Amino acid sequence: MIVSPAFADKHYALLGLARSGLATLDALVASGAKVTAWDGQPEPRARAEGKAEIADLLEADLSQFDAIILSPGVPLNSSPIAERARAANLPIIGDVELFAQARTALPPHKVVGITGTNGKSTTTALIAHILKTAGRPSLMAGNIGLPILSRDPLEPNEAGEGVYVLELSSYQIDLTESLACDIAVLLNITPDHLDRYENFEAYAASKARLFEMQHGKGEAVIGIGDTPSALIAQGLKRPSRQITKIAPGVCMDQSRWPSLQGPHNAQNALAAIAACEALGVPQQSIDAGLESFSGLPHRLERLGTFGGVAFVNDSKATNPASAAPALAAFERIRWIVGGLPKDDNLDECAPNFSHVVKAYTIGDAGPTYARQLAEHMEVDESEMLATAVRRAVRDAQPGDTVLLSPACASFDQFRDFEARGECFREAVSIYAGGAHG
Ligand code: ADP
Repeated sequence: MIVSPAFADKHYALLGLARSGLATLDALVASGAKVTAWDGQPEPRARAEGKAEIADLLEADLSQFDAIILSPGVPLNSSPIAERARAANLPIIGDVELFAQARTALPPHKVVGITGTNGKSTTTALIAHILKTAGRPSLMAGNIGLPILSRDPLEPNEAGEGVYVLELSSYQIDLTESLACDIAVLLNITPDHLDRYENFEAYAASKARLFEMQHGKGEAVIGIGDTPSALIAQGLKRPSRQITKIAPGVCMDQSRWPSLQGPHNAQNALAAIAACEALGVPQQSIDAGLESFSGLPHRLERLGTFGGVAFVNDSKATNPASAAPALAAFERIRWIVGGLPKDDNLDECAPNFSHVVKAYTIGDAGPTYARQLAEHMEVDESEMLATAVRRAVRDAQPGDTVLLSPACASFDQFRDFEARGECFREAVSIYAGGAHG
C-alpha cells in the first residue's frame, strides 16, 4: 500500500467504508494518522473497528479534523455532511488527493490521469497495456476498481521512470485539489450524472479541473468531438505542442486491433497513442500493444458466435451516448435495450437505427423506449433480459449480432452493470450455446 509521512500525526474524518474507503483507512493508519470513520451501514463500520474511532460524522465536532475524506459515492451537491464540512472550512478530499499529497515522498514517477464521460476504463487499460508491452514499470488504479492507496508504489527502475495510470471519474476529480498530472487525458463530455451537478456546465467544469491542476505544465490530450471538450481545449493557456487534440472521424486502419473496433475505440486508441508518445514509448511497442490488447469485460465484449449468430456484451453502455458506438459497429443487430433510464430518449443512437433489425426492450425504460423505437424498427417488449435473449435467439438469422447495449443504468433489475453482463452471458450459454452448439 502507499504510505506517506505527509499523513503522520494528522487526524482525518473518513466517510464511506466500501472498498476505496477501507484501503484509505489502512494507508492512513499505516502512515501514523488518526482516523474517525463512519458509514451508514453497520457491516462496513464493523470492518473498520479496531483501526478507526467509529463516530457519526454528522454529530461529530468537525474542528478536530485536518480534512474529511469522502467516498466518491457521496454526493457533494446534496449530502448534509458535505454542507457541514464546507461550513466548518474543512478541506473535503478523496483518496486521489491523498495520493497526490503522498507523491513528493515517492520515488520519481509520472502520472497519467484519464477522464471523460465514456471510454475511461478502456483507455486506461489500453495505456497500461502498452506500457507493459514496452517493459515500462506502471501501475493502473483509480475508478477502474483498484483503489490507488491499496497498491504498492512503483520502485525506481532502470527501465525508465514508472507511470501511474489513473482512471478518474468527475466525482474523484471534485475531491482532488493538487494532482498535477504529467499527462491529462479528456476523452469526451456528454450529459451523464446530472443528478450530481447543478447543470451540464458544472459537470463539464468538473472535468476541466483536471487540466487546471496541471498549472500550465505537462501535456493535455483532449477529444474534441463534442462542444464542451472542444471549448476546454480551446481555453487551455499553454504552448500548442503540449496539447494533442483528437478530432472525430479520423480515418484510420483499425483492422489489426481486434479489441478496438468502432469509431469510439478509434478515439480511445488515438488518446492512448498520444499519451504513450508523450511518455516516450517507442512506436513499435505502441503498435504491438494496440494489436495485443484484449479489451475489458462488458465493453463490446464478444462472447462468441453460435450458429452464425454473434453475441456481444456491452452491458457497460449505461447511457445513450455509450450505446451509440455499439450500434455503429455491427450491421444486422438484434438490440437488447433498456434498464433504469438516465435519458428519456434514444436520439443519440438514432443515426444507426438502420443497423437494427429488431429491438428487445427490458427494464423500467422498456415501455417508453418501445414506443419510440416502434416508429423505426420492429420491437419486442421482452421486459426481462433472459426473455430478450431467448426471443432474439429464436428470431436470429446467421450473420446477425445479438447485442446487449442497454443505454441505461442497471439498478432497476441488477446489482450493477457487471451482474447484468453476467446474466446476459449465462442466458446466451443457455439459449444459444445449447440450441446451436
Ligand atoms: P467508462 O469507464 O468511461 O465508463 P468504458 O471504457 O468502460 O468507459 O466504456 C463504457 C461504454 O462506453 C462501453 O459501452 C463502450 O462501448 C462505450 N465507449 C467506450 N469508449 C467510448 C468513447 N470514446 N465514446 C463513446 N462511447 C464509448
